[in-house]
Amino acid sequence: MSRTSEFVWRTARLSIEGLPYLPYDLNEPQYARLLCERNCYVCQRKDCDDVLWTLRARVCQRCVASLPLYDRNYLSKQPEAYRDLGILPSERTVVGRSTRLLGSNKWAKRFREEFQILNTQTERDEWISRKEKEHQDLKKHASLCEKWHRSHIEDLEMTRMDDIVLRLNEFGLAGEAEIMIEDDEDEFISHRLVKQTAKLTDYSWNSMKTELIKLLSNHRAKRVALEMPRFPCWCSDPHSIWSRAGCQWYGR
Ligand SMILES: [Zn+2]
Ligand SMILES: [Zn+2]
Repeated sequence: MSRTSEFVWRTARLSIEGLPYLPYDLNEPQYARLLCERNCYVCQRKDCDDVLWTLRARVCQRCVASLPLYDRNYLSKQPEAYRDLGILPSERTVVGRSTRLLGSNKWAKRFREEFQILNTQTERDEWISRKEKEHQDLKKHASLCEKWHRSHIEDLEMTRMDDIVLRLNEFGLAGEAEIMIEDDEDEFISHRLVKQTAKLTDYSWNSMKTELIKLLSNHRAKRVALEMPRFPCWCSDPHSIWSRAGCQWYGR
């Protein structure tokens, strides 16, 4: 890697608020890729926000089931000298409705290659104690990334919601959206078209606006109906006394 590109990535990284430091095992472009390139490493699907920070990979819900489990079978394939020392990176993640402890073929290969070229017992002992320390660093860094990422996702979702409200203004429905946000109504704030990290474009807005306009208009109609004052009518016309609609005095 050239010093110029290292410098460019480093400058970009330092300009992002709250981003954890560069970890020991990645260089600047590798770290930037993990943080910013939002494609699944397996199927390349876009807008993937599922990151396995310890395993250094972005893997979508569909592909995560293809990763190796960190179990007896996985460990039995690793060199005996260190397979039970807990130095091989693993990551617990949600797959469907359960959680799984995942291993990584990439990490396992790297470990094996490093270990194979060691000649003496002293070298091997030193290597193992270095790996123990690195494993601690890795776990700490992964949890910092996880925290940063969660708040980053919330920021992106918030920006999208703000953009949607702005667009709704044109249809006189921004106020209704604000009411639903204020009241924490999942029907709007967790709507599959709203709660996303993707930036709102003209194209995406045009393909979704009909559905949202309908949702907000219905919400407004219901809300207004409920908020209507329910004074009984004092006239003697035969209509519901709880509504002045249809009243010859008030209903016109
Ligand atoms: Zn995938
Ligand atoms: Zn009346």
